[in-house]
Amino acid sequence: MSSDSPTSLHASPIFGPVRSRRLGVSLGVNLMPGDGKMCSFDCVYCECGINGERQPHSPRPSREQVLTALERVLAQRHADGLPLHTITFSGNGEPTLHPDFPRIIDDVLRLRDAYFPEANVSVLSNATQIHRPEIREALLKVDANILKLDTVSADYIRLIDRPAPGFDVERLVASLCLFGGRLIIQTLFMRGALTLRWSGSDETKTFSADNTSDAYVVPWLEALQRIRPASVMVYTIDRPTPFGGLQKAEPEVLESIARRVRNLGMPCNVSY
Ligand code: SF4
Repeated sequence: MSSDSPTSLHASPIFGPVRSRRLGVSLGVNLMPGDGKMCSFDCVYCECGINGERQPHSPRPSREQVLTALERVLAQRHADGLPLHTITFSGNGEPTLHPDFPRIIDDVLRLRDAYFPEANVSVLSNATQIHRPEIREALLKVDANILKLDTVSADYIRLIDRPAPGFDVERLVASLCLFGGRLIIQTLFMRGALTLRWSGSDETKTFSADNTSDAYVVPWLEALQRIRPASVMVYTIDRPTPFGGLQKAEPEVLESIARRVRNLGMPCNVSY
């Protein structure tokens, strides 16, 4: 399958800082190579592009490279008197796939405590590795572990998130329940349609990409009641996506979904 829109990659292992209203001054930690993407999902809306077209040529940064690069930036900002509010693991793929992820979390927390003890450490993860106890233990150490759950429909996940073989949404929800509520669920809602064209063929097929109807929202709310996260973040596409035809969910649709979450007793933020 091929895509048709521009997307962007992040530098590795440290990028930013970027300023946002929600996170303040946020420094990014990218545990994937800077010249490509490595992810256990291949979301059709991924800002980094699709996996087949973004294969990296360089290796992932080692634990030592992450530690050295981060300490250099933190020490410099500290010496210059510049602020830092958040250190966020995100970037070109899924951070928990890095073989040293648990040890890197310990390193980053230690550096945070040394230079910017007030800053939060956040991880943005697609949750595909949380069935592994060492990944759960590492995620439970950070201030905000933000885990993706776009839907509980296996068909929609296959079409939109496009997981690597072996993914099981039931196992995912059961693993999310093991956090004892110490997690944030992040869900992307969107409208539009996805037209897939197979490489080397003129054949196309169009599927709805809309996950805002009750057919998707009601089972997702039921899963949230089982998981009982500390909070929920709902958002929509914001930047160019690899595939055309995907559309933002309207603010009032996101707000209406957020109200239903709040009615279940869970805080819910909307980003549009
Ligand atoms: S989980 Fe995140 S990084 Fe991975 S493909 Fe999806 S949007 Fe991209």
